[in-house]
Amino acid sequence: MSAGAGARIPVMVPWLGEEEARAAADAVLSGWVAQGPRVAEFERAFAERVGAGHGIAVSSCTTALHLALVALELGPGDEVVVPSLSFIATANAVRYVGARPVFADVEEATGNLTAATVDAVRTPRTKAVLAVHQGGVPADVHALRAACADWDLALVEDAACGIGATVGGKSVGHGALLAAWSFHPRKVITTGEGGMLTTDDAEWAERLRRLREHGMNVSAAQRHASGTPIVESYLEVGFNYRMTDIQAAIGLVQLGKLDAIVARRRELAARYTELLRAVPGVRPVGDPVHGEGNFQSYWVLLAGEFPVGRDRLLGVLAEAGVSARRGIMASHLEPAYAGHGAAQLPVTERISRDSLILPLFHTMTREQQDRVVSVLREQAGG
Ligand SMILES: *Cc1c(COP(=O)(O)O)cnc(C)c1O
Repeated sequence: MSAGAGARIPVMVPWLGEEEARAAADAVLSGWVAQGPRVAEFERAFAERVGAGHGIAVSSCTTALHLALVALELGPGDEVVVPSLSFIATANAVRYVGARPVFADVEEATGNLTAATVDAVRTPRTKAVLAVHQGGVPADVHALRAACADWDLALVEDAACGIGATVGGKSVGHGALLAAWSFHPRKVITTGEGGMLTTDDAEWAERLRRLREHGMNVSAAQRHASGTPIVESYLEVGFNYRMTDIQAAIGLVQLGKLDAIVARRRELAARYTELLRAVPGVRPVGDPVHGEGNFQSYWVLLAGEFPVGRDRLLGVLAEAGVSARRGIMASHLEPAYAGHGAAQLPVTERISRDSLILPLFHTMTREQQDRVVSVLREQAGG
């Protein structure tokens, strides 16, 4: 088949170049490679971009989620409502503080929690909701914030995939109590590994900075910069969740490219959706009514009429040189959560069983996109 011609099409490629390489080299040559001035600058620039008061850079989104739940002082006996339909780190973060993740279902169109799906599983022990902007599709945070306020629950946003997505014209993260972000290479912008917390609360920001750095009351950067000796003290048991200045230097360049990256992803997504109109049984993800996504993951749901099963289709795509991926996982079905107990999650199970993520990256060509679609068209029998 002609679909197999040409080099393998990867599912994601970070858009990195000379500028990032030079920024990383400058950080190395400056002699300051640990958390320092470039991390501080990246935090300010990132917080400003999402419209938050404070940014706290950390080593990953997973550690950001952990610290958010530490800041909320959650622990054993507490329940946190999370979507099962998420990368497993979302649920694991709740386990790290000894609290119990309670899995809620999602709506089919967005893959996100809604006030109704949260309401179906909350109990008197529920203290917080951890909502995900899944695959870069913004959750309806205005509805979720209003519901959580009514129920007296804290709403934490897992915005690992959310940078550049908007709700009501404002960046995801704007007005969030606590939002956690990822700079893993599978996300929209990358620092290799890395994460960020954003919040408007100055006291939380101060505590989060302390918690990421062993609970120290003075950062290592402040101590080094000071002319006179400062003896630090350790106010509570913290962690080493720091980002390096090398990562932050790369992050600053990536942040400058964000608008171009999101514009390109949306353009490619729109073209996919247009081409897939002619393929019966394939329903692509799109923008929700309340906002615009960044298409961090361009996923499609196979309808019952599609003649080939999802896993078989992934195999056919791989043979044709196309690296697609299964759709978002269902955490409650993984061995790590065996025996955990979960409510019925029919939408979650359907999406995780019947969806797949198609290749989409900044430098993707029309020819590559056409190759992906031609495999789907052939399999659909069209
Ligand atoms: C990728 C991802 C994470 C984990 O991010 P890391 O930076 O790799 O720790 C958490 N939650 C969601 C929804 C993700 O997609």
